[in-house]
Amino acid sequence: MTPKKPMNLTAFTLCIRMATELSRERTIILFAYRTQFWDELNVWRETDDRLGLFLASNSRGGVFFRLPQLGALETHVCVTWNSSSGLTAFYMDGKKSPSKIYKKGHSVQPGGRVIIGQDPDNYVDLFDAKQSFVGEISDINMWDYVLCPHTIKALYAGQRVATGNIFDWDTAELIIKGRPGRVEVVDNEHVA
Ligand code: CA
Ligand code: CA
Repeated sequence: MTPKKPMNLTAFTLCIRMATELSRERTIILFAYRTQFWDELNVWRETDDRLGLFLASNSRGGVFFRLPQLGALETHVCVTWNSSSGLTAFYMDGKKSPSKIYKKGHSVQPGGRVIIGQDPDNYVDLFDAKQSFVGEISDINMWDYVLCPHTIKALYAGQRVATGNIFDWDTAELIIKGRPGRVEVVDNEHVA
């Protein structure tokens, strides 16, 4: 996915709608933003079902949230982060987790690539099939500020109350990479 503007961020809201039948036996990458030297902003589902946010961090440097299990029924997940306080929270189907303090004073660096469905360990390759996302993913929207809980609840309900200023799913340009037939872009409005 190509962002609408450079991703130098001191706050963000990232939302994703997804459904997966993958078991909890392996990690799943939900969102990867990679710059030259780092996994700059990654969201993972861990093997113990926790969701983790990683900002310029390796596998131990994230902040983890114990939330209801992701599964085959569509789930709307958002994560918000703000550098000035470090406050980080996940939302699942419009409901907010407790906030945690993570990477206060940090800023996300621009100049990387956003990849959905895989985690690069280099700029930009070295993919591990056992970390891929398998399932359906949609409504990937991102803002360079923290949305209020009321707005996130409305987004979960499918109301177009806010248009992402970094990613807007309705107008996002998606470039498919990898083996043909393994990834399809489907217009949900036309699925019978
Ligand atoms: Ca990896
Ligand atoms: Ca990686």
